[in-house]
Amino acid sequence: MRNVIILGSGCAGNTAAIYTARAGLKPLVVIGHEPGGQLSITTDVENFPGFPEGIMGPDLVANMQKQAERFGAEYIYGGVQEADLSKRPFRVNIDGEWQESRTLIIATGASARWLGLPNEQKLIGHGVSSCATCDGAFYREQKVMVIGGGDSAMEEATFLTRFASEVTLVHRREEFRASKIMLDRARANPKIKFLLNTVVDDVSDISKNLVTGVKLRNLVTGEAWEQEVAGFFLAIGHIPNTKPFVGQIDLDPDGYIVSKGGARTNITGVFHAGDVQDRTYRQAITAAGAGCMAAIEAERFLEAEGH
Ligand code: NAP
Repeated sequence: MRNVIILGSGCAGNTAAIYTARAGLKPLVVIGHEPGGQLSITTDVENFPGFPEGIMGPDLVANMQKQAERFGAEYIYGGVQEADLSKRPFRVNIDGEWQESRTLIIATGASARWLGLPNEQKLIGHGVSSCATCDGAFYREQKVMVIGGGDSAMEEATFLTRFASEVTLVHRREEFRASKIMLDRARANPKIKFLLNTVVDDVSDISKNLVTGVKLRNLVTGEAWEQEVAGFFLAIGHIPNTKPFVGQIDLDPDGYIVSKGGARTNITGVFHAGDVQDRTYRQAITAAGAGCMAAIEAERFLEAEGH
């Protein structure tokens, strides 16, 4: 029987681990299917306080884990398959093995969203990707395309110019969700071409098992054409990882956990932290802050219960 099980090893989960471990609660951290969370697939983090020169995302999360382990946090590989939160102790099934805990911190984050194109899933790993950091280096001196109008799209497009000969950024509107600094940086990059008011109809070529081009359509003129590219990168946001909690934890229509104040969910003793609940800020630092809040609430809950 554990005092605390933390689901997820991104900024939120790791920070909750540092705090609960330092409080002597010996947390178990379930690493999840994306170890280190979204920071592990990003490059330079320039806005995390305390790093005036910036820090690489994977280094930041690795440091956090090291810090939590120094205080006695235990990390295990695997992901949560199902959960029984109907009574205490709570039970979670980690890749077939049930674990019990007095409290639970859900920090399972959010995963990449896909467009749902007919050929998209079939060409993942063959030119279709949701992670420029992971796959960018495969496209040296080739043409690639990035879809999206947020910070991730700007970041990925800019990153890809290190390798690609040309990056086309396709966005469905004229206005951007991206912050000015990220947008300006992308606009100033001579390798990035912008296609606005444009949507993707499909990606080719399934017969070659390889991306060779993308079918595009301009929403204003109705013009449709195919553009030749070797790499097709999605940067269109994320979906919260809450599947195992459906029907138990209150979720909003998009699947995000509904907060009941602080880090509390609708179930006493189950707390949320990070992008699994936060659809507004979604920053490394806010996820870390949320992990801290969840840890403090779990600690107070256990104390009040006499543990
Ligand atoms: P986001 O801000 O939600 O942007 C998603 C983009 O994808 C939007 O432009 C959206 O278009 C587009 N999109 C969504 N569904 C689409 C569809 N079906 N077809 C075509 N386009 C679609 O997501 P994000 O860029 O991943 O950023 C998430 C959070 O992380 C943000 O808070 C961001 O600031 C943060 N972030 C920060 C940094 C940094 O500061 N270094 C880097 C990356 C991310 P519409 O605009 O038309 O809705």
